[in-house]
Amino acid sequence: MHVRRKLVAGNWKMNGSRAALAELGPIAAAARAAAGVDVAVCPPFTLISLAVARAGGIAIGAQDCHAAASGPHTGNVSAGMLVEAGAKLVIVGHSERRADQCESDAVVRGKAVTALAAGLQTILCVGEVEEERVAGTHCEKVLYQLEHSLPELGGEAELVVAYEPVWAIGTGRTATPDDAIEMHGVIREHLLARFGDTGGRIRILYGGSVNASNAAALFACDNVDGALVGGASLTAEAFVPIVEAAAKS
Ligand code: PEP
Repeated sequence: MHVRRKLVAGNWKMNGSRAALAELGPIAAAARAAAGVDVAVCPPFTLISLAVARAGGIAIGAQDCHAAASGPHTGNVSAGMLVEAGAKLVIVGHSERRADQCESDAVVRGKAVTALAAGLQTILCVGEVEEERVAGTHCEKVLYQLEHSLPELGGEAELVVAYEPVWAIGTGRTATPDDAIEMHGVIREHLLARFGDTGGRIRILYGGSVNASNAAALFACDNVDGALVGGASLTAEAFVPIVEAAAKS
């Protein structure tokens, strides 16, 4: 039986400004008070270095990286560049990138391989769209994504899986605890079958409209090892109660 620390990671998406970095102070204070919880914030690329300087102990990460180390990839940022900027983690395969940038599982896998090799904790996102949930093929879809986008593990850095049902992202709709228990259990079984004992140590986050009201119920679910939080990570007022709920779970 593995004891996994909760991880609460904020994804600011294309939001935030220098002024927004003031939110990091109270978030860091809450993180220090929340023994046993890891806290991270992933602002846009332009704010990473500034955020690192004001992180106060929380980990600062990025929302994407390219699979290549360098080269003719206009507008992209490599894992090595993120490390140089002070990032400790990176999100790959977020559903918004899978949709907006047409990122395939193979592309996501390439990013994860590079990020892990660069020493970045890597949060790899999977999740079904609404039609798949309605059709009852949600587990099949997520298993396919895991099969094709998870890298092999060499122990360079920590891999984290985030289950984010696409229909719950930014919609105010959340998976029920039963939905989360079912899917996180399916993901855990896949991780154990694929990576053996290591699969029991991989943290599985839930993401999709997590907020102060629903966090505790989600954190109480088997195999929910924390949350990836979008909208509610933009202010300390909304994010801190989620960190506190993780500490109490
Ligand atoms: C996300 O973008 O990863 C996310 C979970 O967003 P939200 O919390 O706003 O649904």
